[in-house]
Amino acid sequence: MKFDRRVEEVQAFDKAGKYILYWMQGAFRTRYNHSLEYAKYLSNKQFLPLLVLVVVDFSYPEGNFRSFKFFLEGLKDVSDELTSQKIGIDMVVGRFQDVLRPYIENAKIMVTDKSYLPNLINMKNTIYGENKITVYQVDTNLVLPVNLASPKREYAAYTIRPKILKHLEEHRHDFEEFKYNGAFLHPKIEIDLDNIENELIRQNLIFVSPAPYVGGYKEAKKNLDDFIGNKLKYYKDFRSDPNKDIESNLSPYLHFGNISPIEILNELEKVKGNPENYYSFQEELVVRRELSHNFTYYSNELKNLENLLPSWAIKTFDEHEDDKREYVYSLEEFEDSKTHDEIWNASQRELKKRGKIHNYMRMYWGKKIIEWSINIEDAYDAMIYLNNKYALDGRDPNSYVGILWCFGLHDRAFKERKIFGKVRWMSKGSLIRKFDLNKYIKN
Ligand SMILES: Cc1cc2nc3c(=O)[nH]c(=O)nc-3n(C[C@H](O)[C@H](O)[C@H](O)COP(=O)(O)OP(=O)(O)OC[C@H]3O[C@@H](n4cnc5c(N)ncnc54)[C@H](O)[C@@H]3O)c2cc1C
Repeated sequence: MKFDRRVEEVQAFDKAGKYILYWMQGAFRTRYNHSLEYAKYLSNKQFLPLLVLVVVDFSYPEGNFRSFKFFLEGLKDVSDELTSQKIGIDMVVGRFQDVLRPYIENAKIMVTDKSYLPNLINMKNTIYGENKITVYQVDTNLVLPVNLASPKREYAAYTIRPKILKHLEEHRHDFEEFKYNGAFLHPKIEIDLDNIENELIRQNLIFVSPAPYVGGYKEAKKNLDDFIGNKLKYYKDFRSDPNKDIESNLSPYLHFGNISPIEILNELEKVKGNPENYYSFQEELVVRRELSHNFTYYSNELKNLENLLPSWAIKTFDEHEDDKREYVYSLEEFEDSKTHDEIWNASQRELKKRGKIHNYMRMYWGKKIIEWSINIEDAYDAMIYLNNKYALDGRDPNSYVGILWCFGLHDRAFKERKIFGKVRWMSKGSLIRKFDLNKYIKN
């Protein structure tokens, strides 16, 4: 099989079973999904039907109305597509452990998507340990499997880039599709996917108003086509301008695994155009994104800054911890855009309204929270809280690493200044000189 290096046998336990179970947990799509293909392959080999299971746990940490709406919209595409391929799909509401137990009892083998965040990795390991079944994890959400790219936490983009580029061609073409020959197990769908808002109201979730993006593969593909047709040609020169929407807006779709980065790359390559734009995008989609996954995958936890930041950054922040802060805001003031800085307030409004902040403004948003917080721990907690609550692409390896970058992760030391020490600072003055932000503020 072309992608066997993506497949990892986590535990082996020979037992009888009625089907091959694919617990779809991180790759909510049917296209370019190596886990699904591997499950099909096993089911053909074992002469057993395939059953795909999605567990919808409405008590999932940091989940809310906004994020669940996007997630469920994506499930509609999955359910329609699998049903048309005559593959059984169950969508069941409940806690992961509780829902999985009876399914695992009846399965011969379980296949699932590999995770990259410590809380998910630990949760899955607990579930595997409690159940006697052979488990395969498949690395399908990265262009290069995380442990093949590197066996350790990388220092910065320049250390991981050559490792990724060396094997990129090989892995972006390792996808292989299998024709499913097994029986169709009749689907059991416990969610009303035709009335998602009503379904969510019944669940009493924390209310965050829906963002203007619809989840699922079809919408992801529309965004991709729009990007290729209208934006790619400007990407290198204008991706940083907050007034121009020269970004793919694919991050929410990548977060929920609605689209594969391999498909994105392959579609882009067909049109390539000016190679500078293509390689500039590849740098973000592959090098930066996979550096984030490398970091969270090799981190035991994501809460304590002293375990997450390079020692030079911790040292320099320590040396400046008593520096006077000109402004200090509470979490509520940040959340309600009540700072003295209209530009910052606009970026927070963008987060609340759009479910993401323009890439360049995201850096400003983060740097200023550090500058206006009483200490770096409060700043980190506020950023994680706000990003994970409002951003559709939140709770992702990119969320943690994007935020930690503001504190010096994967960056170098700069000229020393107050509060930040040697960590890179961002000035409002230079932002205003670069872009006409009156337009951004009015949006
Ligand atoms: C404080 C802060 C918080 C962030 N939080 C998130 C987050 O919650 N989720 C998230 O996906 N990204 C986050 N980022 C990284 C980056 O801002 C977003 O990935 C990007 O804005 C997503 O928009 P897009 O898909 O239109 O980007 P595009 O420019 O179209 O890029 C395409 C893809 O490349 C990847 N990418 C782009 N920029 C980066 C980057 N700097 N680091 C890693 N991957 C990148 C993303 O997967 C993105 O979808 C954060 C950055 C900062 C500074």
